[in-house]
Amino acid sequence: MIKVAVNGYGTIGKRVADAILKQPDMRLIGISKTTPNYEALIAYRKGINIYVPQQSLKKFEEAGITPAGSVEELIKNADIIVDATPNGVGAQYKTIYRQFDRNAIFQGGEKADVADISFSALCNYNDAMNKKYIRVVSCNTTALLRTICTMSKVSRVEKVRATIVRRAADPKEVKKGPINSLSPDPATIPSHHAKDVNSVIKNLDIITMAVVAPTTLMHMHFLDITLKDRVDKKDIIEVLSNTPRLVLISSKYDANSTAELMEIARDLRRDRNDIPEVMIFEDSIYVKDNEVMLMYAVHQESIVVPENIDAIRASMGLMSADESIKITNTSLGILKGYLI
Ligand code: NAD
Repeated sequence: MIKVAVNGYGTIGKRVADAILKQPDMRLIGISKTTPNYEALIAYRKGINIYVPQQSLKKFEEAGITPAGSVEELIKNADIIVDATPNGVGAQYKTIYRQFDRNAIFQGGEKADVADISFSALCNYNDAMNKKYIRVVSCNTTALLRTICTMSKVSRVEKVRATIVRRAADPKEVKKGPINSLSPDPATIPSHHAKDVNSVIKNLDIITMAVVAPTTLMHMHFLDITLKDRVDKKDIIEVLSNTPRLVLISSKYDANSTAELMEIARDLRRDRNDIPEVMIFEDSIYVKDNEVMLMYAVHQESIVVPENIDAIRASMGLMSADESIKITNTSLGILKGYLI
């Protein structure tokens, strides 16, 4: 059993922690919290060990949460740490991970040079085997990479042009976001997503543009992919529907918006209404000669969870990509084919 710690228990950290609890080869030894808020209390009631900064031990006791120890002890007790602290904080923690000689998985909010490799399970799992520090790319980049690497099974991907409509904030982030505006993010082209894709697929010709929209539910991408060969739409649909972590949404059942996708997640009683699969609107798939266009939605809060689990196995050098991805998909109930 791999002993895993989760440092930073927010949107991503709590989902990764729950996913670790479902893995047959991993043990969640604990999580870190800096404040005894509702997330800490619920985790504590679930029986998860909470580790806190030394100076906060008393504050947690007073809130009815008995810490299992300090954050340093958490790191020392683990084989590997999933760092899901806010952007830039992970880089500061790296010094401590290094001090205790522990492997670590970082998130997309960190700069690429925080890690030995940027990671997307469907693209470069094997290159990440035995790497001490791995960075799971951001939610948008994870969706782009899953889609691009899947398309490359049909024909070589020569060029990608993508427009990204970003959700302004996560649902719980009450202090963020445009209220009634669309803001280029940034107005300069390419947006950082292209560079992030290039951190995994080095020489791909990709240009991305991004705009922030007043929504909290999901992102939406508009993709234009140029392949080396002429392709048929049926070949594209076949590869997309045969790859777990990508799902198609048929207009047959009137699900035509991110709001309705979230409603499906509720109706399916998915944990936290999460859909970690890339959700492709089947009607949007358009093929002209060697050019493929499509639109898909990305649930930013959960899409990187399976990649974090695979990154743990890759870093520990435990098994091949196919084996890890299979165990992750099965344990998390990740679909291929149609969402419903
Ligand atoms: P978040 O703010 O929801 O969670 C971060 C958690 O870390 C909070 O609970 C915070 O209290 C805690 N924290 C802050 N300082 C800490 C410290 N010094 N030590 C330990 N814990 C500390 O953030 P998030 O959205 O989960 O983002 C985490 C990382 O994941 C970032 O790199 C982000 O870019 C990336 N990411 C976020 C999303 C998303 O949509 N939310 C998607 C993909 C990747």
